[in-house]
Amino acid sequence: MQFSFSEAERRLERRSVPIRPMPRGGDGLLSARAKGACLELGLSRLAERVSVCWNPRMRSTAGRATWPDAIIELNPALEGISESEVERTFLHELAHLVAYERAGNRRIRPHGPEWRRACSNLGIPGERAGHSLPLPSRTMRRKWRYFCPGCWAVLERVRRMRGHSACYPCCLKHNRGEYADQFRFVEKRIGA
Ligand SMILES: [Zn+2]
Ligand SMILES: [Zn+2]
Repeated sequence: MQFSFSEAERRLERRSVPIRPMPRGGDGLLSARAKGACLELGLSRLAERVSVCWNPRMRSTAGRATWPDAIIELNPALEGISESEVERTFLHELAHLVAYERAGNRRIRPHGPEWRRACSNLGIPGERAGHSLPLPSRTMRRKWRYFCPGCWAVLERVRRMRGHSACYPCCLKHNRGEYADQFRFVEKRIGA
């Protein structure tokens, strides 16, 4: 099923769903489309509550759905990627709300069969749980690499090691666990 704004609007008129004031950063068009989609799926109580907004504090997350509040938050960076990514993320998050609403008090997995069914209902069958969008990564960049000249082990650290450090397995094996300069890590700065 695909929804256009006009369809959603007509449906809203017919069913006269009360429109609540938008939260900050609220998107009237996407909220109306979400309401229309919920009505189409027979979820009128969800249609009454659902709203879509842009959250400028989002970093690596593309979107988020909060239930039972029925709030969909989208990362404004999506707009810079493409319109189709906005659309896909919007439907992905809406599918979460649809799945939770249908499940009621029953506990379901976030990306389980109920969510996948909702994705099919919303026209994005085969949608995946994660995204691979060029959004800032959540994981911190490793900044330092250490290399043991004895066993060639490599470690990476965000923080620089203080003082002299040696490879513990090598020191244990060859020097009864005492520091040995021959197993001292060779340090290299990596990344930014
Ligand atoms: Zn998801
Ligand atoms: Zn070693």
